[in-house]
Amino acid sequence: MTQTQPVETIPTARPTPAAVPTTGQPYEYRRAPLVEPDWTRFPGWRHVTREQWESAQWQRVNCVKNIKQLRAVLGDLVDDTFYDDLAADQATHATMSMLVPPQMLNTMVPFAPVTTDAFYADPVRRYMIPVASDRRTDWPSHPYATRDSLHEHDMWVAEGLTHRYPTKVLAELLSTCPQYCGHCTRMDLVGNSTPTVDKLKLTLKPVDRYDAHITYLKAHPGVRDVVVSGGDVANVPWKNLESYLMRLLEIETIRDIRLATKALMGLPQHWLQPDVVEGLERVARTAARRGVNLAIHTHVNHAQSLTPLVARAAQTALDVGVRDVRNQGVLMRGVNATSKDLLDLCFALQGEAGILPYYFYMCDMIPNAEHWRVPVWHAQQLQHDIMGYLPGYATPRIVCDVPFVGKRWVHMLTEYDRERGISYWTKNYRTSIESADLEALNKRYAYYDPIDTLPESGQAWWAAHRDD
Ligand code: SF4
Repeated sequence: MTQTQPVETIPTARPTPAAVPTTGQPYEYRRAPLVEPDWTRFPGWRHVTREQWESAQWQRVNCVKNIKQLRAVLGDLVDDTFYDDLAADQATHATMSMLVPPQMLNTMVPFAPVTTDAFYADPVRRYMIPVASDRRTDWPSHPYATRDSLHEHDMWVAEGLTHRYPTKVLAELLSTCPQYCGHCTRMDLVGNSTPTVDKLKLTLKPVDRYDAHITYLKAHPGVRDVVVSGGDVANVPWKNLESYLMRLLEIETIRDIRLATKALMGLPQHWLQPDVVEGLERVARTAARRGVNLAIHTHVNHAQSLTPLVARAAQTALDVGVRDVRNQGVLMRGVNATSKDLLDLCFALQGEAGILPYYFYMCDMIPNAEHWRVPVWHAQQLQHDIMGYLPGYATPRIVCDVPFVGKRWVHMLTEYDRERGISYWTKNYRTSIESADLEALNKRYAYYDPIDTLPESGQAWWAAHRDD
């Protein structure tokens, strides 16, 4: 399929809100303290003690990795139709293998009877345990979806080191996580291969990979900000992670370090282990002494996922000197793509968990993600609708990660063909693969809305050009 030019450009005016009440506020804030759901409601965990629950080792050993293990936890609360649906998805569509820590599973259907219908409808289940009937059958993938949709691998300057923005790099230390999310944008690299995706493999020994990163950063003083990620840094043995961070802190030109870990929410027990807390304190003290901003970035998509244990893990990181804990969620249909869901989550993050609502990313254009993705106009609407409720500094930006461009606020597009769902974006810097491209800053870069959200004429256009 070749890239198209819009025939007609439709203004990006705010669409009419779906259901705005005629009196009162569209969103009513009420404080809602966090609660740890009772894990003994699941037959498989009826006898699990608090001590076991709060042990990182128990959580890791009891992660749910397959349908048999899920059945062992849920018992007959969920019937066979669900498990068959899950098996069908794993065989035909799943881009990530299954890995759900008990902590995360326990936030599904947290405060109502667990039934098949309730489990199907649960927002956390919808992205952590996707099933075949969740996916679209007309357009499961956008024609322009790709495995490495952000071209991070193309921009590697050393194994696992993506240099996309002028002053920032992404350091992927490893390719595993304590949990695997169905919508993972790094599905090309992260996790085990699935029947439909043969994963890219890191080939260097970790020690050589880390050396290569440090060498590059020492040689490039224009890079001041390192996102230390993966995968999830919670899977790097602490000793190795601390050594890497201390080496980064010795580079005088590095001024920001951000640790990316969804496990702060998915496996908070990891970040509460005494050796990890003590190690984090050593790193935070060194960062503070050297004037470096050390932060943790986590990934929470729904208020249900926030429990007192998550808040304790975040608060502990702040107590030992991490400067900030921030959230980067992903906007997904069926999970959180309403202003109420986003505001509930942001108030729980900001008011109860000590985590700054920072970004919501639009779900990237990876294969089999169309049922999750929202169109740009919908993201713009959500950004509009969440303004004015939270403190300004805690009002998250909703961003589109445009291939070959990077993050753009969703209102920053330059042109938008609403009929075919194509938005056009520009950029103000060159990525590492465009240093000699004279035109890089003059081009327009395209992003595509999910086809099922287009008007009929737009859907017909894509159907007619399906095989171009
Ligand atoms: S934790 Fe992050 S890197 Fe790991 S599977 Fe989830 S989204 Fe991907």
